[in-house]
Formats: sequence, structure tokens, C-alpha cells
Amino acid sequence: MDIAFIGMGIMGKPMAVNLRKAGHTVFVHGRRAVSMVQPVEAGCAGCTTIAEAAAQAEIIIVMVSDTPDVEQVLFGDAGVAQGAKPGSVVVDMSTISPTATRAFAEKLQARGIDMLDAPVSGGDVGAINATLSIMVGGKPEVFERVKPVFEAMGKNIVRVGDIGAGQVAKACNQIVVAVTIEGVAEALTFARKNGVDPARVRDALMGGFAGSRILEVHGKRMLDNDYTPGFKTKLHQKDINIVMQTAKELGLALPGAALVMQHLNALMGTGNGELDSAAVMKIVERESGMER
Ligand code: NAP
Repeated sequence: MDIAFIGMGIMGKPMAVNLRKAGHTVFVHGRRAVSMVQPVEAGCAGCTTIAEAAAQAEIIIVMVSDTPDVEQVLFGDAGVAQGAKPGSVVVDMSTISPTATRAFAEKLQARGIDMLDAPVSGGDVGAINATLSIMVGGKPEVFERVKPVFEAMGKNIVRVGDIGAGQVAKACNQIVVAVTIEGVAEALTFARKNGVDPARVRDALMGGFAGSRILEVHGKRMLDNDYTPGFKTKLHQKDINIVMQTAKELGLALPGAALVMQHLNALMGTGNGELDSAAVMKIVERESGMER
């Protein structure tokens, strides 16, 4: 297929390269020309503007940072809406607001362009190895059309529901991850304050009901006091902000997520936005005077 790929960041670059490897024709656009060098070396065609890439494609993938960025890419000057042909499909794989997603889809539909939201989980490793989990919202027939494209980038590909449902699933993912990080941080701090080795506690918990990927991966980062990312605090804060904004729109109480939001805010405020979000542990420790 002819595919446009907008956003050459940590995730976008390897995803575009994997599409090329699968035999698709890929037109890439990165805001900074230097970000297109590697994908172009891998056989993708570099485009100066977003509209230029979109005009040549039947499927237009967007992988940028936040809700306002997706809006700018879609509807800004020389953006997707100015280039895309009626009958093409926009696939937004960024993690953004489900409410804004539905509004974007409506505006595109008025121009004869379909949209899927398809945020991912699995990190840069999943993007490089084409093993991402992809959570999709949109019409079933549009999903079927794009499915072979998803299969070149991911493994667990689920159409969750109508437009916005992929972003809702991703928000659910981020609630579980954030609240579990908080629980693991509190448990390991509780162990240490009791004079019990938190590493041994983690070993003991791994096989039981408290066992999880978060206890395994993030728990290890906490024990090592090494918060090399991973998934950066600033991105986790963005995602929990999406959760809290949506909860506000719906009149929904999410006290667990709200509490972790405060700890992510405190991490950002202490200059730790680039650390892995397992660094929530630092705030938990600081609150009880247990800094290491
Ligand atoms: P990233 O490395 O910061 O890349 C974002 C890319 O988007 C950058 O190349 C940036 O351009 C471009 N961009 C941002 N705003 C733009 C705009 N207004 N117009 C044009 N281009 C714009 O981020 P990432 O890690 O690839 O993440 C992308 C998305 O995937 C985010 O929504 C993130 O939450 C989600 N995600 C990330 C991970 C992960 O582990 N990293 C995992 C799952 C989901 P510049 O290079 O010029 O800044």
C-alpha cells in the first residue's frame, strides 16, 4: 500500500521502517529534516510537508506527541487535511484525548476521509521489533482495510470499538500501570521502613497474586534506584492528564489515578520529567524522609 507516516520520533521512526520492510511504499515527514535520515536510508521517501506526504497515500499514519500536536498535523497549514484524498484513511497512533479524537474524526469525515485511533503499548522495543500492542477504534470495515498495515508494526491488534475506543483502552492501560507503580513503590518502602529487605519481599511477591510486570520491571528499577527510561515521567503525566480531563468531562471519580497524578506532578516539579515514571518511588520516599 501507499502509506504516509507523520512524526519521526522514538516510536515513529522504527514503525515507518518496519512498514517499508513489509513491502509498503512509505512517504515520511519529520518536523526536523534530520529525523528523516534513517527512514530514508531504509527506503522510505522523505517529504518536505505533511500535505505532500498525505497526497500520495491511501493510509496516513500520525505518531506525534499530544492532542494539540495531532490537531496541528491534521488541520494546520500544509497539514493532512490539505493533502489527503477523499477515500483515504487517517490512522492516529499517538496517545491523545478520546474526546478530541471523535471531533477530529468528524471533521475529516466531512471531507470524505475516514479515521481510526490506534494508540500502542510496548515502548520503543515493541516499535523496533514490530511487536506493539495496538488498540483500535473506528468502523469495522475501515479496520479490516488497515489491518495488514497494523500487522507490520504489532502483534496483539484489537479493535476495541468505535472511534475513540482505542484511546479509551490506552487510558485504561495507563491507569493500571500508574496505580500499580504507586502500589509497588509504597510496598517496597513499607518493607524497608520495617527493616526487611525490599528485594527479598519482591522475590516473595513475584509468584503470588501481587506479581505483575510492574512489580518485575518497575520494581527492579526502584530497588536499583535507577530510573533510566523506559517510559518518561513527562509522557506518563500527559497520559494521566488525559485520563483526568476525560473523567472530569464525564463526571467520574478516579481517586487512585488522581493520587498518582499528584506524585507525577511533584516529579515534574522537581526536574525529573525525563526519568522513568517508576521514579514515583522518589516522591513516596521523600514524603516519609526515606530518600536514598
Ligand atoms: P517523541 O520521540 O517525542 O516523538 C514525537 C515526534 O512527533 C517528534 O519527532 C516530534 O518532532 C513530532 N511532533 C511533535 N509535535 C509535532 C507537531 N506539532 N508537528 C509535527 N511534528 C510534531 O515521542 P514518541 O516516544 O515517539 O511518542 C509518540 C507518541 O507515542 C506519544 O503520544 C506517546 O505518548 C506515545 N507512546 C510512546 C511510547 C514510548 O515508549 N515512547 C509508548 C507508547 C506510546 P520533533 O522531533 O521535531 O520534536
